Amino acid sequence: MPVRLPFRPRRDAYPSDLWTKCPGCAEMLFNKQLDKSLRVCPHCGHHFRIPAKARIEQLADAGSFVERDANLQPVDSLGFVDLKPYPDRLVAAQLSTGLRDAAVWGLATIGGRPVSMCVMDFGFIGGSMGAVVGEKVARAGEAALAERIPLIIVSSSGGARMQEGTFALMQLVKTMGVVERLKVARVPFISILTDPTTGGVFASFAVVGDVNIAEPNAIIRFAGDRVSAGTIGEELPPGYQRSEFWFSHGFVDRIVARPHLRDEIIALLGFLIAPPLNGVGEPPATPITRPRSFLSALTGALGGDGAGESRNGDSRNGEANGSRAEAPRG
Ligand SMILES: [Zn+2]
Repeated sequence: MPVRLPFRPRRDAYPSDLWTKCPGCAEMLFNKQLDKSLRVCPHCGHHFRIPAKARIEQLADAGSFVERDANLQPVDSLGFVDLKPYPDRLVAAQLSTGLRDAAVWGLATIGGRPVSMCVMDFGFIGGSMGAVVGEKVARAGEAALAERIPLIIVSSSGGARMQEGTFALMQLVKTMGVVERLKVARVPFISILTDPTTGGVFASFAVVGDVNIAEPNAIIRFAGDRVSAGTIGEELPPGYQRSEFWFSHGFVDRIVARPHLRDEIIALLGFLIAPPLNGVGEPPATPITRPRSFLSALTGALGGDGAGESRNGDSRNGEANGSRAEAPRG
């Protein structure tokens, strides 16, 4: 008859609501302590993904955030079914996150300065950008423009939402149209890239901030490593398409650990102030620098001519052709 030894559970078998295993150092972390350290591993500095609500609490002055358009609902315009119907996916994500879609926007103060902020939530269908997320980014930008207050967007996204097909792709143009108007009006835009910022979000507004700040070791890219390696037919260097890689290539301006992020933003808000209007509703007449997006930089690097012009044309079309009609309002 076998002898029963005293039961000792394996370390990774602790209840997941109490403990989290760090993917960086495999240490078991007590959730309450992890929350206190802003969900950054105290042993190896791994930055866990955090929901939009937690991010807003970390960045905005306590109690200052007032959410706008909380009821904006995604719709299944295409009747899309993959492993399960898109509406079922939406309901499941809404129940698990308590959000209507993968972005939250509103007005707040940070260090006493008013800002318009939009925060993405990776927990909602991979933070993917469909019509509602694009609309929220656009409305956050338009509020910043109207109030002449800085725009802060925290990206955390797998890219455009494939279940919304072309409607999702149209958000790239729409969001870039607003960013372009901010540049012309000289209203500051601080973009914060967190793990992961990929696909259509990377290819549109996320990397064209006046200041692009990334959290350490975040995945920031358009396409995955396998696709990239296959396209260029070369082995990829270590740390490829992580924050540090982009910083060393001048694509990201700052890498800031989460505990310092709020202070860093407060310092930046002290420097970046929209100049006052000249009395006739126009910003002072100064040379306008066009945002240099990844795609225009790429086509420029490939010897493309007039990439900036065509992209700017697209932005104007995006604003004028009513591409925002697909987003339900309410
Ligand atoms: Zn760790």
